[in-house]
This record gives sequence, structure tokens and C-alpha cells, in this order.
Amino acid sequence: MADRKHSRLDEDDVRVRPQRGKSRPRSKDRPAHEDAEQGMVVAVDRGRWTCVVGSGDDERVITAMRAREMGRKGIVVGDLADLVGDLSGTDDTLARIVRIAPRTTTLRRTADDTDPEERVIVANADQLAVVVALANPEPQPRLVDRAILAALDAGIKPLLILTKSDLADPDELIRQYQALDVQAIVTTKGDDLSELHAALTQHKTVFLGASGVGKSTLVNALVPEADRATGHVNAVTGRGRHTSTSAVALELTNGGWVIDTPGIRSFGIAHVEPNRLIQGFADLATGTEHCPRGCSHDEAECGLDAWVEQGESTHERLDSLRRLLRSRSSESR
Ligand code: ZN
Repeated sequence: MADRKHSRLDEDDVRVRPQRGKSRPRSKDRPAHEDAEQGMVVAVDRGRWTCVVGSGDDERVITAMRAREMGRKGIVVGDLADLVGDLSGTDDTLARIVRIAPRTTTLRRTADDTDPEERVIVANADQLAVVVALANPEPQPRLVDRAILAALDAGIKPLLILTKSDLADPDELIRQYQALDVQAIVTTKGDDLSELHAALTQHKTVFLGASGVGKSTLVNALVPEADRATGHVNAVTGRGRHTSTSAVALELTNGGWVIDTPGIRSFGIAHVEPNRLIQGFADLATGTEHCPRGCSHDEAECGLDAWVEQGESTHERLDSLRRLLRSRSSESR
């Protein structure tokens, strides 16, 4: 019945159409906001989104609000937003976000002691750089594991950036992440950053770290012109405010983005599904066929031990996978 009702409505529309002007298509057939320009969200603050549109000399920083048709849909840093309205980027203008493009990746964190709700941190990032000080403050392997777990779960490549290498030896930490194929880049203040630049160029990389690890120092060194790139952001809210409350995307001179995030104390990963995670470990995923139903892959009956014994993967890989899985379960108490 519903179908018939629909088709009758359409017929009515067709009959009415010729009387309303000739060439103008009905609004429901016309793509909404054909003239919209796409920009990337680089900062979010109190119901206002800062977006960068255009490129080269035509690049503009625009402040936008959410159009009514967006409803309550979340718009986060990294989102590609379709914008209409005043896109000149001049002061006191306000554009509207009418749409966001489907996300290629979504980096989330979930409920933990300090943050009761699940939230999307950044959209469309393809790398997550976990910044860890080798000393002062001491590395927190559990926090690092959780961040890497969230990256792998989201289909984002994790990177490890080890700072303050003048204070402690990085080898032990590097060894811990070797089996996970996580690239580690060792730095100390004042270092040449060419290795890091090479790893970041043409990527959208989220920078994550506990406070005091030297993340801000690193970001400032990587994007010294950051203040200029987000000049509008600064004028509106002040960069300090942004860095302490939400993510902000900074454009690299040679292409790509560094997305700085506030210092973290914990990283909630209750949303991570162990079975989805294992799909990222191609050499181990096939071996789970021999697991009992509902296997946690961290129990005596798990089929992965035998799989590794057959030479299909390594003990180091399996141990690392299990360490990540444990970092997840240790959250629920
Ligand atoms: Zn198993």
C-alpha cells in the first residue's frame, strides 16, 4: 500500500510540473547546493567550525556554522565539508556546512574515568603518531598500546615518535613495538626533523601524547608557520584555547596535515572489537579458524599458538597482539 501511495504522489507531481516553469527541475531531484565548495575542517569551537578551502593563492580560512539540514550530525576536525554562503574568508563572515563527505577513517575514544562518552577525535586521518618521552615523564606502555590498538582498529597506520633520546636509550621500547611493524622515529630537542618530515608529508597525521612528552614542541618545530595557517582561528579563540580543548589541524609546507590533540591522561578503547582488530593481522587472522567459538585469543584453547608453531607467524607477533588485547580488557573492571 505504501508503494501505491508513493507512485500516486509522483504522478501528481508530474501533472503539476508543466505549470510551474519549464526547465527548472524539482528541488528533490536537483542535488542540493550544487554550488557548494569543499573544505577541510581544521578546528572546532563552540558551534563554529574553521575550514580551509581552495589551495595555493586561493586558499581561504572560513568560519562556518552547521546548516539546519545537518541535524545533530557530528562534524569534527579532518572532515571534508561542503560549504555554502559567504566563502570569501573575510572577517565577520559566516558560511554554512551543508554536508560532510563519507569518512575514510574515524579515530574514536570511548568512555573511561575522565571522559564518560564515546567521541570521534578526528576524521579521515591516515596516520596516528603516538608521541612518547623516553624519560621525564616515564613512558606509559599501556597508554601507548591502547593508542596503537585504536589506530589499528580504525585502519590508521600507527607511528611511534620517541622524544628526549638524550635522557634514555630507546632500544627497549623500539623492540616492544617491532613485531607490530610500528615505525619508530627517535628525536631529541633541536634534532634535524627530516626523517619525521618524510614520514608525514602528504599524510594526515594525528599527534597524540601525554602532557609533558614534548608534543607541542615537536608540532611547533614541524609547522613553525602554524600561527599563520590558522590566523583566523587565533583571532577568534586563541590558539592556546584550541590546543587545550580540542584537535586542530595544521598544514605542512610540503603537503599533508599535522593534527594536534590535547594532552591525554588515558585513552578509552571499549569500542574496539577484538575480532575486527585481528583482521589487521593477516598472518594471524587465518589461524583463528581453529579457535573455539568465542575465543578471546588469549586463553589456553586458542588455536593461534599451534598456528605459530607451524611457522605461519611469530611468537613475537602473537605476544604483541595479546598484549594489545589485554590493554583493552584491563579497562573494564
Ligand atoms: Zn583464539
